Amino acid sequence: VNAMIKKLFLEGKIVTVNTELSFESAAEIALEYNYIADEEEKVDIIEELLKDEEDPEDSLSPRPPVVCVMGHVDHGKTSLLDAIRKTQVTADEAGGITQHIGAYVVKANDQRITFLDTPGHEAFTAMRMRGAQSTDIAILVVAADDGVMPQTVEAINHAKAAGIEIIVAVNKIDKESANVERVKQELTEYGLIAEDWGGSTIFCPVSAHTREGLDNLLDMILLTADMLELKANKNRLARGLVIEARLDKGRGPVATLLVQKGTLKVGDHIAIGEVSGRVRAMLDHKQRRLKEATPSTPVEIIGLNGVPNSGDIFLATKSEKEAREITDAFKTRGKENLILDTKRGMSLDDLFNK
Ligand code: GDP
Ligand code: MG
Repeated sequence: VNAMIKKLFLEGKIVTVNTELSFESAAEIALEYNYIADEEEKVDIIEELLKDEEDPEDSLSPRPPVVCVMGHVDHGKTSLLDAIRKTQVTADEAGGITQHIGAYVVKANDQRITFLDTPGHEAFTAMRMRGAQSTDIAILVVAADDGVMPQTVEAINHAKAAGIEIIVAVNKIDKESANVERVKQELTEYGLIAEDWGGSTIFCPVSAHTREGLDNLLDMILLTADMLELKANKNRLARGLVIEARLDKGRGPVATLLVQKGTLKVGDHIAIGEVSGRVRAMLDHKQRRLKEATPSTPVEIIGLNGVPNSGDIFLATKSEKEAREITDAFKTRGKENLILDTKRGMSLDDLFNK
């Protein structure tokens, strides 16, 4: 204690045995003794702020499924998403430009399905790592002429680790060399066993080119969603995930959010990591203005004071003060991590110089 009091005194800080040190000073001292201080309490503050209370059963109502498309490169993920989207394009918007916002909603049998359309599944992985489940159902695309490939297996592992339901879309069945049975046989090795092979995995033969089987695929998604009994409370402050975000020249920071619980409204205060703001305007996937967005709805919003990271959790808050509390906690943690990183770097250099 005396050594520390002396050290702080020499730095111009007058302290006694009872003085509470800031985390920063404590971490600095710890480093002198070759310890790296952990920021447990601060992490807890953030966890506390982001904590999600479970909604009572009677507050829940059905919500649309959120679906992502995964699979090996060139097996037709993009083509399949495009083909599904195009089945929805009505005459009046056929010539219009559809802007990519990272997610879109499709209507089938009068029910909605939300597709996440993020390039690759990096975003998907990032979200999973942050402990926030973004997707309910994964469409595993396997080319019928190519079969199971390394990224097919990777996708299966991702989906299984996240506990996501898998539907297999065997694509390119229009091709001469297509062999659906071979794909089924290969996938048995990974625990995905088709119904006609004695298992319970849904296999949908499709062609993104001829659009054969697309309606069936959408039906199977809805069937699976029914089975999962997906529900959320829409009568509360919204929370969800950032799908994509960017800086727009004219509009400033623009973020595509997936509402997971509650209803997001124009005018809501919002906090996302170190970023905060107020929802100034909200657009749907067809760039139509919305006043409200309910669970499983992807929306593009403006009104943030910075560009958030994709995969981050967003929270609508009661007040601007509450939003600022959250961003302040994140900012403090960010700053401290930066100081620690620098210190770590310095002490490593010191080691090498000796
Ligand atoms: P991704 O890498 O998984 O997104 O695959 P793409 O959608 O980019 O497709 C890769 C290639 O396969 C492209 O040349 C597509 O035109 C082709 N392709 C995709 N779907 C089909 C299909 O159903 N039938 C045929 N014959 N070719 C397809
Ligand atoms: Mg692609």
